Amino acid sequence: MSEQPLKGSCLCKAVQYEIRPPFIRFSHCYCSRCRKATGTGRGTNIAVALDQFKWISGEDLIHRYDLPEARSFSTAVCTRCNCPVPKPTRAREHMIVPSGSLDDPPPTGPSAHRQWGSRVSWASIDESHLPVSE
Ligand SMILES: [Zn+2]
Ligand SMILES: [Zn+2]
Repeated sequence: MSEQPLKGSCLCKAVQYEIRPPFIRFSHCYCSRCRKATGTGRGTNIAVALDQFKWISGEDLIHRYDLPEARSFSTAVCTRCNCPVPKPTRAREHMIVPSGSLDDPPPTGPSAHRQWGSRVSWASIDESHLPVSE
């Protein structure tokens, strides 16, 4: 069974990719690293297996940063527009895709709020149908 691939891109459209559902994980994360990495109150990322991900263009424009003290945390941006783009986990187990970079609507939404205990004081959720962890 193969679902329709979803297209995604960075702000300047130089970096383009496709992912194929189903997702391994799609969740909001409120940890301090995700907040710094996104510049906002939470990171909302999708994880897919490497074989569910395909680069279309711009892979050579990507700058990756691996946070030294972290086991796996990293960021990746398009060097033309400085916006977040997908990146493989350090162990290359799966691809982490910033959900806001998708151009097509995903078949499902986030399924959890992670690291809720680390949230900013002004964080509030009206997505109360989602389970809250931590
Ligand atoms: Zn770009
Ligand atoms: Zn996080």
